[in-house]
Parts: sequence; C-alpha cells; structure tokens
Amino acid sequence: MKEFQCVVIGAGHAGVEAALVAARMGCQTAMVTLSKDTIGQMSCNPAIGGVGKGQLVKEIDALGGEIGLAADRTGIQFRQLNASKGQAVRSSRCQSDRKLYKQYMQKVIATQENLTVIEDQATEVLVKGREVCGLKTAAGLTIETQTIVIAAGTFLRGRMHMGPQVTEGGRAGEISSLRLADSLESLGFEILSFKTGTPPRLDASTIDFSKMEVQHSDTLPAPFSFRTKGIPHDQKLLPCHITHTTEKTHDIIRANMHLSPMYSGQIQATGVRYCPSIEDKIKKFSDKLSHHVFLEPEGLDSREYYPNGISTGLPRDVQEQIVRSIPGLENAKMTQPGYSIEHGVILPTELRPYLETKKNQGLFLAGQINGTTGYEEAAAQGMMAGINAALKVQGKEPFILGREEAYIGVLIDDLTTKGTDEPYRMFTSRVEYRLIAREDNADKRMAKYGYQFGLISDEEYQAIVKKYDAIDKEIVSLKEFRVLPSSSEGKQVNEILIANNSSPIRQPATLNVILKRPEVRYEMLSPLRKGVSDLSKEIVDQIEYEIKYEGFIERQLKSIEKFRHIENIKIPADIDYTSIPGISIEIQQKLKRFSPMTLGQANRISGVTPSAISILMVYLRKLSAERKGGV
Ligand SMILES: Cc1cc2nc3c(=O)[nH]c(=O)nc-3n(C[C@H](O)[C@H](O)[C@H](O)COP(=O)(O)OP(=O)(O)OC[C@H]3O[C@@H](n4cnc5c(N)ncnc54)[C@H](O)[C@@H]3O)c2cc1C
Repeated sequence: MKEFQCVVIGAGHAGVEAALVAARMGCQTAMVTLSKDTIGQMSCNPAIGGVGKGQLVKEIDALGGEIGLAADRTGIQFRQLNASKGQAVRSSRCQSDRKLYKQYMQKVIATQENLTVIEDQATEVLVKGREVCGLKTAAGLTIETQTIVIAAGTFLRGRMHMGPQVTEGGRAGEISSLRLADSLESLGFEILSFKTGTPPRLDASTIDFSKMEVQHSDTLPAPFSFRTKGIPHDQKLLPCHITHTTEKTHDIIRANMHLSPMYSGQIQATGVRYCPSIEDKIKKFSDKLSHHVFLEPEGLDSREYYPNGISTGLPRDVQEQIVRSIPGLENAKMTQPGYSIEHGVILPTELRPYLETKKNQGLFLAGQINGTTGYEEAAAQGMMAGINAALKVQGKEPFILGREEAYIGVLIDDLTTKGTDEPYRMFTSRVEYRLIAREDNADKRMAKYGYQFGLISDEEYQAIVKKYDAIDKEIVSLKEFRVLPSSSEGKQVNEILIANNSSPIRQPATLNVILKRPEVRYEMLSPLRKGVSDLSKEIVDQIEYEIKYEGFIERQLKSIEKFRHIENIKIPADIDYTSIPGISIEIQQKLKRFSPMTLGQANRISGVTPSAISILMVYLRKLSAERKGGV
C-alpha cells in the first residue's frame, strides 16, 4: 500500500508533463509506467512542432512545461514553417534526436522532487462513490490517491496490424493495456476505437541521398523555449531529404490493397485523416501520380531514417517492395517494418473543460486516450490535466484556458464540447483569434499563469514583463514620433523611403503610420531611432507585427469582447433544462448530456440553435436574479 496525492498513468508526452507539473505544484506524485526505459519515448516520427503544433509547444513552455526545453536540447534541425506567410500562421518545428530526447526527459523525471516512478501496469481505478480513491496495479500494489491522470496513449486495448498479422500491444514490442480498459468500462465509460500507423525505418547506409532534394535547417535556428539561451547541437550535420513515390509504388499498393488491414475489413476503427497511410492516399487521391516522402534522421549517432509519408499496415514483404520503388531507396534495407495500430479512446465529451471526467471526481484523462493524435496535443493536455489535478488536491478552482487566449484552449474546448469522431490534430485554421494567439507572443499570453502556479521563476517572469514593456514603449514612441516632410528628419525619412522603393511622405506622418506600409521594415527607420537601445530581432518582429496588423488585431479584440460576453455567463450545475419552455426536447437532452459550464460552451454544441441560446440566456438571467433574492 502506497499513498500519493496524484497518480499519473503513462510516461508518454501527456504523462510526462502531467507528472512533472503536479509534482512541481507540490503534490506527492507517482508516475506509473509500463517501462522506465520508455519514459518520454517518441512513438512515431523524431520531430516536435509543426503547423499549429509549434504554437502548442510554446504555450506549454510558457506555462512552465518541459516539451520545449527537451526539443531545444535535443534538436538537430530547426525550421520555421510558413515563414513566407503572416506571423499568425508561422509555426516552429524541429527534428529531435530520438534517443537524446528520451534521455533528457528521463533525467528530468528522475531528478524531480515529489515525483516517484513506479514501473508497473495500472489495472484498476478505485472509487468511493463517484470519487477516485486509489489504483491497483498488476504487481499487486494498491496506491491510495486523491487524483489520477490517465495518459495511456495508444495502449488502451492496442492492437497492431501488419497485413493479416495482428499482435496485441500499444507500440512495437510492448504490451496492450487491457485491464485498465476493462476498469474504465466498468466505471461506465464507452471505449471507441481509433487507428494510426507508422512507416518502416530504413538503414541510412543503404540510402542513395544523391537522388533526393536536400532540406537544411534554418540558418538561425530559433528555439521553442523562452528559457533556452542557445541550441547545443550542430544543425548542419543531418539535413532532411525529400523524395517521392512513383507509379510503380502505386501499382504495388493497388495490387496488395486487399492485404491492407484498413481495406480488408480487419480494422474497423477511424484513421487519421491528416496523416493517412500510403494505402489511404492511393485510394483517396487516385488521380495523384506521386506523393512526397521526407526522410528524417533519427539522431546524431543513429543509422536509421524515418521515411515520413509512407506509413503503412501492409505485410513486410510488400513494404519492402514499396520502399524499393522510391527514387534513392532502390537498395534501401528496412531496419524495422511499419504497422497500423488501433487503440481505445474515451469520448472527450465525457470530460469537463479542465479534463476531469464528469462521471468520476478526481479522475482526469489526457493525451491520445481523448482521441487526439500527436505529441504536442498530448503534452498540452498532460499539462492542463496535471495543473488541474494539483489544483483539485489544493482545493482550488479549476484552470481553464479560453479559446480566445490559447491554442490549448481551442484544443480542449473542441474536444470537450464537440467531441471528435476521428483522430484530432491541431491546425491554425481551428483557431478563431490567431492574430492574437500567435507563436511569438505565447510567453506574453501564458507565462502569467505559469508564474501564478509557481512553474515559472520570478526571474524568468520578470524578463518577460521587461520584454513586453520594451515592445509597448517602442510602439508608443513610434506613434508619437511625428515627421514633417520639410524638416531634416522628414528629408531623412524620404531618402530612406525612396531608396527602398516606397513613395516619399508629402504630409506630416508618424513613424508607426510609415511602418504600416508593407515595403517598410523597422530596421530602415532605425537611423531615426538612435536613442533606442538595441532591440532584439524577436522584439522588432513583434513591434512590426503589432503595428502593421493593428486594424485587424483591434477587430479581433472587439470580437473577443463579444465572445467573452456569453462565455462568462455560467450555467449552474443543477440546472433543469426540462423546465425551460421554448427549447425543444432534443436540445434539452443534448444540453443535459453535455452539461456545458458556460453559455459559450452550450453555443458550440452541435445542434444547439441560436434561438435556444437566446432563450437559455434569458432563463439564466432570471434564474440568477431569483437566486440572488431579486425578482
Ligand atoms: C504506431 C504509431 C504511429 C503513430 N503515428 C502518428 C502520426 O503519424 N502522427 C501523429 O501525430 N501521431 C502519431 N502517433 C501518435 C503519437 O505517438 C501519440 O499521439 C503520442 O505519443 C500520444 O502521447 P500520449 O502521452 O497520449 O501516449 P503515449 O506516448 O502512447 O504514451 C503512453 C504511455 O502510457 C503507458 N501506459 C499505457 N498503459 C499503461 C498502464 N496500464 N499502466 C502503466 N502505464 C501505461 C505507456 O507505457 C506509455 O508510457 C503514433 C503512435 C503510434 C504508436
């Protein structure tokens, strides 16, 4: 018998963040994992970030999480994606050394105060009434705890498929989490099945890179973490390479489609739409003659490459044929085959917006178990579940991030109010206020919370405050710096403008107005800003963005105000929807089932009409007045 305040099941990306944050917030925390060796393991590709995902990493980092630091310490190739597009959709990505990444996380976990790692299989969640009270493990341990975060990833009833061959397991060479799934079912949770997959890995010495396009890291690698001072690894050693499938590849796949577990009927689960298997791509985009294949290095001292784009569940010999039909891979040897995996998922609408289950108090779910796919989505949920488990132990109010302030807010709101019927991944397009919730200002948006929870040090927080003071001050100065065309400064400005193919000013203008011109950059105006101490590129980028997009940003801020209006209207937990006249029985039942916490959430439940929301708003006002002893 052991006693803890928080138990985290799982040591993947969700489990690691949840356990670290709960321990850092002072909870006596246990991390139960099937294997200590796989703590922090990257199950699929050796990369962190990406479009919509880089934003998540930066937000987790600014809250005081670990994923950004781990990526920076182990990154061997950093790139900013969408660099030619607006700041709102720019996202960071890096190739990480898979082995170093895991080692880094294992060291952080091993040295974390208040955190005990238990290598065992969690088998049964124990409850008293509807409240969590403990956990049983396969080795016979009973752990008493106030809260549990389940972050079992792809292991819940995991089944791996390679052609007709089916093996039970959550990842190659690992077991499946069957008893935990049974325990959740006995608590009343329905377990659905989703599918994902991974490509074969290739021996680098058998790849002919000369036939491929090379893709290098950015010349100036930008770290994920605002706490990182420098990137330790050489960025030039291992570039990525790009090749493509051929007509021959497609013929091989078509000829063997009946052996694909997705198409033979062996897998019934819903697959990842945005990261499909190569069989899926051939079937769904039959007119495409070729698909890109990115060769990602597994690590500095690894001889393996990860061919991103040919994830497959076909038999091993077919995989070999597929690989060899690709330019540069004619002689490539597979070091391990790819496979498809189906795994159990709990409908995320079972969760409150702070990731506690509605059914059982003290039980939190995070990561792939909630129907998401991706390391970053998992880590974001782990962070939020860990914070909320700790707050629960401390008897404090839950922490919910709004859709208007964070990608994490959108992710969790989408999951908990709309649910998902296919593996959910983050995209910039899911975020309504992305001019405001950007990667570059994640520290401004999130660090105040990290600081409040004691996850960001005073020194780190003050550095952020100072940075944004400098930005605000410079924006005000630019707005106040008025230039007359006839003055010496006006002449200087016009010389600069003409030299940069911009028309000269003929009327008095302030520097911020001049900077709004698309062709004008802050550096061009720097001769007029001599008194200003050197500003970093990061600060200059933000100043430019805030000024150039000021009108759009203001519009989004106004729309956020409107959004907040209904978002802040709380719905009491004991509301009786059946007593609200004018709302259809179908909508009443839906509202009862989803039990939204705010009018905003109710508004996002599919099928709840605007008129039902108006009626509910009036009803809530009346109810609130009555409860306050008013009318
Ligand atoms: C084959 C494969 C292919 C994938 N392909 C993609 C892809 O193409 N794109 C993409 O974005 N994502 C992909 N993923 C998903 C990605 O790996 C996950 O989204 C991410 O790792 C989920 O993180 P997690 O923390 O939720 O769970 P995981 O990283 O799966 O970690 C689960 C943890 O729970 C532990 N655990 C499970 N059950 C128990 C138990 N009963 N007791 C104790 N410990 C337990 C395990 O030991 C492990 O530490 C793939 C995953 C796999 C396995």
